[in-house]
This record gives sequence, C-alpha cells and structure tokens, in this order.
Amino acid sequence: MFDAEGHDDGPTCPACGVAPTRRFAYAEGFEEHECDACGWRSDEEELTALRRASGDLLEREPSTPSPPVGRPLRA
Ligand SMILES: [Zn+2]
Repeated sequence: MFDAEGHDDGPTCPACGVAPTRRFAYAEGFEEHECDACGWRSDEEELTALRRASGDLLEREPSTPSPPVGRPLRA
C-alpha cells in the first residue's frame, strides 16, 4: 500500500502556497501530493470531495460527523 516513491517536485500546496509539495508516485499509476509545511494531503481533499458528493445523495442521513476512515492508528 505504501510502496509509493516520493519526489520533491509536487505542485504548489493549495492550502498554504508552499512549493514544491512532496509527490508520491504509486506503481498503480496514480499520484498523491503531501505538504510538509502544513500537512495538506491530496488524498484527503479527494476524500472530502467524495464525501461531499455522496452527501448530496445521502441528505436523509443525520448530520453526524463521520469518523476518519482508512487511517492507521499510531500508538
Ligand atoms: Zn501546505
């Protein structure tokens, strides 16, 4: 899962404007970007967008914050 290759040539961080962000190129053929300065991660933005999109379809759901998914806990 975390066999991505990291490069320091990612796009400018949309959250804090720092450039470059770290770019992770996955063998599966997609990329993720992570900002060392503010902790912004492109995969989180995609997750937020996904939640927002599915939220339009699930308006009947009570508006309780959903717990983070897929986040490994570090002891
Ligand atoms: Zn940032």
